[in-house]
Amino acid sequence: MVDQDKIRKAVRLLLEGMGEDTGREGLAETPDRIARMYAEIFAGAEEDAAVPLSKVFTVDSSEMVLEKDIVFYSMCEHHMMPFFGKAHVAYIPDGKVVGLSKLARTVEIYAKRLQIQERLTGQIADALMEHLAPRGVMVVLEAEHMCMTMRGVKKPGSKTVSVAVRGIFENSGELQDRFFQMLRLEMGSRIDG
Ligand code: ZN
Repeated sequence: MVDQDKIRKAVRLLLEGMGEDTGREGLAETPDRIARMYAEIFAGAEEDAAVPLSKVFTVDSSEMVLEKDIVFYSMCEHHMMPFFGKAHVAYIPDGKVVGLSKLARTVEIYAKRLQIQERLTGQIADALMEHLAPRGVMVVLEAEHMCMTMRGVKKPGSKTVSVAVRGIFENSGELQDRFFQMLRLEMGSRIDG
């Protein structure tokens, strides 16, 4: 639970620590702005992916479903700096599917927390396994980390890629290849179209 009062006090102290005059015009409202912003960008900590993922439909198909290019924004817990990029989420249903918007909603719920990219990737995969009980899940995240690119540890625009595989994806290079093929295929058709 975000305690906005504590955050206001902490930001004031942080600004003092930086040698800033917390009373000057541009900074006077900053503690309050950040407190309100944190309530929004960390709202995922109070949300449960079980809610969007409970709205399932019954299907006969067991063909891979891929939702690609789900834009997300998260905060690295080591530096409290943003990392952001795209999530590609695929699963092979076993009788149950969800609306595509629910996959994006699931990504958002886990992204809006203090995170590390690897855990975020795994949590999305685990939530799908738990609530959809599919035959398998594969999640790929590609993200730029401001804590790396802003400090010059990495070139701006460089991406960190993380992968989580569950169920039948775990031991099937063939299925993993198909995931990447589908990812490329859609990219190609977008360029051509
Ligand atoms: Zn970091």
